[in-house]
Amino acid sequence: HEPEAIPTEAIREEYENLADLVRKYRFAYYQEDAPLVSDAEFDTLFRRLEEIEALHPELVANDSPTQEVGGEVSAAFAPVEHLQRMYSLEDVFSLAELEAWLNRAEASIEKIGDGGVKAAWLTELKIDGLAVNLLYRDGKLVRAATRGDGTTGEDITHNLLTIKEIPQELRGNGFPAEMEVRGEVFIPSKAFAEFNEALIEAGKAPLANPRNAAAGSLRQKDPAETAKRPLKMFVHGIGAREGLAAGSQSETYGLLKEWGLPVSPYFEVLETRDDVLAFIERYGDQRHKLLHEIDGIVIKVDDFGTQRALGNTTRVPRWAVAYKYPPEEVHTKLLDIQVNV
Ligand code: NAD
Repeated sequence: HEPEAIPTEAIREEYENLADLVRKYRFAYYQEDAPLVSDAEFDTLFRRLEEIEALHPELVANDSPTQEVGGEVSAAFAPVEHLQRMYSLEDVFSLAELEAWLNRAEASIEKIGDGGVKAAWLTELKIDGLAVNLLYRDGKLVRAATRGDGTTGEDITHNLLTIKEIPQELRGNGFPAEMEVRGEVFIPSKAFAEFNEALIEAGKAPLANPRNAAAGSLRQKDPAETAKRPLKMFVHGIGAREGLAAGSQSETYGLLKEWGLPVSPYFEVLETRDDVLAFIERYGDQRHKLLHEIDGIVIKVDDFGTQRALGNTTRVPRWAVAYKYPPEEVHTKLLDIQVNV
């Protein structure tokens, strides 16, 4: 986009209203675990906000939703400062946008490596859950926190420990003196359906969707309540680390798995763009047959050195992108209505 001259009053007003609406929807989604609109609807509004900002950079304030990781810290939990900031992900909504993103990333990588670096793409499923940050010191879990605003999260250690697969102590040896393990907490699709059936049988209201159910479950005040929910976690990143002997993210996953952490069975390291596109297509076809819900695919630069060289914006890493599948239209037989899921 070519930046336009001075924004008119009408543009300024549209922009302010849109920013307020995005803030309101984020609050309902992150703080109350009760979204007011569909993700597709939210994404469209967010996109429009980014478009206006691209045309009128002078409108962009430091507290614009595009400059922040969505999510706040509730007073119900003790605040936790992450050792290393947690980020969101840049989204693309079509294969053409993905190609453009890959072109840009490959050009930057080539510059960094003087043409000698070859990008290997770590492709993963984008799990529709809640991001958490686990701090291990000398192999012992010190605390667990939600992402919050990226800098400060909420202490949910007791709730997280109700998830059986998460080790309080790592097994084996060679683990770093200190490391932050990032992952996604989710409710598997089958367990979600069963949990909801049980609620309905008991005359209670079912949970709206697995993502908000996972977020709501993890942010209970009483860990005994969390323990009743069928939560799981898969690792998808690493934050601060001291003495980690691994040069890439996939290599790190191998180590984390050895140490007893739950690593997703679905990730792959791919050399070519065609392989990345095939991965997207394959999981697009299978998305409802997987262990958990997904809303897209995450494509990351695997090599840590290249990740560091590419760096981050205030909101997202420049070395990763989320491809979002188009929202599906579900036609119900009884009622002739369409709903976005
Ligand atoms: P995001 O969900 O688009 O991406 C970042 C997050 O993806 C990470 O923090 C992590 O938790 C998660 N993730 C899942 N699998 C991952 C993987 N393999 N690797 C890395 N990260 C992985 O960004 P966001 O800022 O958390 O939220 C935006 C999303 O939330 C959008 O999908 C948006 O539609 C939705 N949202 C909806 C509403 C609403 O009202 N419906 C409001 C706010 C946000």
